[in-house]
Order: sequence, then structure tokens, then C-alpha cells
Amino acid sequence: VVESIAAHDSGTTPFSVEFFPPRDEAAEARLWRTVRDFEQLRPAFVSITYGAGGSTRDRTVRITGEIAEHTTLTPVAHLTAVDHSIDELRAMVGSYADKGIRNILALRGDPPGNPLGEWCAHPEGVHYAEELVHLVRELGDFHLGVASFPEGHHRSPDLDHDTRYLVRKLRAGAEYSITQVFFDVDDYLRLRDRIAAADPEQGAKPIIPEILPITSLRSVRRMVELSGSALPPLLEERLAAAAGSGPQEDRAAVREIGIEFATGMAERLIAEGVPALHFITLNFSRATREVLQNLGLVAAPAAG
Ligand code: FAD
Repeated sequence: VVESIAAHDSGTTPFSVEFFPPRDEAAEARLWRTVRDFEQLRPAFVSITYGAGGSTRDRTVRITGEIAEHTTLTPVAHLTAVDHSIDELRAMVGSYADKGIRNILALRGDPPGNPLGEWCAHPEGVHYAEELVHLVRELGDFHLGVASFPEGHHRSPDLDHDTRYLVRKLRAGAEYSITQVFFDVDDYLRLRDRIAAADPEQGAKPIIPEILPITSLRSVRRMVELSGSALPPLLEERLAAAAGSGPQEDRAAVREIGIEFATGMAERLIAEGVPALHFITLNFSRATREVLQNLGLVAAPAAG
């Protein structure tokens, strides 16, 4: 990841995109169309999230391998410690190595069912992402990233603890972090300042901001609720006014605000010198592509 970012043409900010494992064949066909759309736009990397249950996990492993084998893209596999013993985690990392996948985003994960519920480690597993970073590093030559939280992780007692634990994950050998979705650029800048103040060496590692181009009020509300972060009240009011009061939200109006907002955030982040922009795509390419076009990071499709 860090190498791909560094190899990017100078003068523009690289970008990357996130996918999730599709639920069925139709969703998988759509994901592959999206993967091919993005392949042409040359993202620095693509990441694939890791779910809570068996079959979705298998799909993450399979699709990450297929992206490595059949496309020119650099895949990053998300890996969580949820419900895995250390032996299972070792086997999982081994299967990625066999597929030639060297980039792993090491995460603790959330309790299945209720992400905000009580966290219980597997009796033979690990307690924190930091331990997962150590474990994967012992297993071979992997490039590791970790999660960072502009608003602080919802389980951290305060921002000082949050920074301390993040710095520990980075010192353990993570080369970069990708942030939780956020909607206030100042939160990102404060996170960057906190890490730099706590440990300048770790502060020099890329902190890649994650951006969600909002296309549905209902789904963004659910997403922020599950992640323990917040929608700024003014943005939520604008989106709610656009969504209207009918039984179906006015998706086109919501989307227009979402894309304009994501573009504005990304412009400010670029001006602040971020190393890259990571987009949540929800397995569609259009909204992210529009933001990238607005930013001049990809060309608009030829007319006609
Ligand atoms: P950790 O770094 O282990 O931190 C968890 C909590 O423990 C924090 O509050 C931290 O401050 C605290 N802590 C850390 N170390 C210590 C210590 N030594 N002592 C005491 N407290 C400590 N989830 C998925 O299930 N699948 C995914 O694919 C996925 N992808 C993600 C991608 C990104 C970019 C981000 C930001 C999050 C993602 N998540 C994913 C969600 C993530 O798993 C949760 O946010 C989870 O609650 C925290 O994971 P973590 O790796 O940051 O945990």
C-alpha cells in the first residue's frame, strides 16, 4: 500500500476503494462490474472487508484471491480477530500468502450481531488489533495497515487512550492506518496532530482518510449508528430535507448533496496534504467516480 501510494504519479493525490463480500450471485456479478470499472481508473489499492460469519468470510478470502489473480489491482484483505483462535488466524494468513496477497488490514472487529455490544475475545484468540499485527508480522513478509478513528474509537475512555493504543499498533509494525468514516475534516486533522505529538516517527506514517459519498440517508444513518460515530447535525438536516417526508426517500436529491459534500471534504483533505483518499463504494462505482471526476483525479467519460 505504502509503495503503491509512493509510486503514484506526482502532482495528484492517489485514491483507493473499499468493497464488501457480495451476498449472492447477482451481487457478485455487480461487484465484478464495479471492480472492472475501477480497474480502468487505476486506484492505488482496493480493500475487501471481512464479515462476522463463515460464508461471508469465505467470500472475502475467495474474492480477494480472485482480484489478485485476475486483475491488475493490488488487493488489501481486511482480517478481524472475531471468533478466531490464533491457529485459525495463522491459517487464514497462510492462505492469503498462498494466493500472493501480502497486504492485510489488521482489525480486532466487533461483536457479531451487535457491534456496540460487549466484546469477548475468543478463548484462544487475541484481545486487540495490536496482537494481530504482531502475529501476522511473525508469519512472514506482510504489509500491514490498521484502523484509526478521527472521533476516537467508541470503546476508548478518552482521546489520549485512543491515541496511545493507535500508536502501539503502529509501533508493532503497521505501516499505515485507514480511518473510520468521518464527516468533519477537523476531526481528521486533530487525529493527525495527536499521533504526531505522541510519537513523531509513527506520525510520519500515512493516515488514509476514508470517505463515504452518501447516496442514501437511511443507509448512512445505519452505518454511523453501527460504527459509533456521528453525522454532523447540519449535514443530517440538509440530507433529511432533501430526502423528503414520503415513504421512499428522494435518493437523487440525497445523492446530489452526498456527492457535493464528499467532494468538498476531499478537496480540503487534499489541500491538507493527505497521502491518499480511500472511498467506501458499497460495491458501486458511479458515486465515487463522480467525486473523483469533480476532483480532477480521473477523466470524465468521453461525451456521446
Ligand atoms: P483495536 O485497535 O484492538 O481497539 C479496540 C478498542 O480497544 C479501542 O477502544 C482501543 O482504544 C482499545 N485498546 C486497544 N489496545 C488496548 C490495550 N492494550 N488495552 C486497553 N484497551 C485497548 N470490522 C469488521 O468486522 N470487518 C472489517 O472489514 C472492518 N474494516 C474496517 C476498516 C476500517 C478502515 C476501520 C476504521 C474499521 C473497520 N472495521 C471492520 C471495524 C473495526 O473492526 C471496529 O471499529 C473495532 O471496534 C475496532 O477495531 P480495531 O482494529 O481498531 O481494534
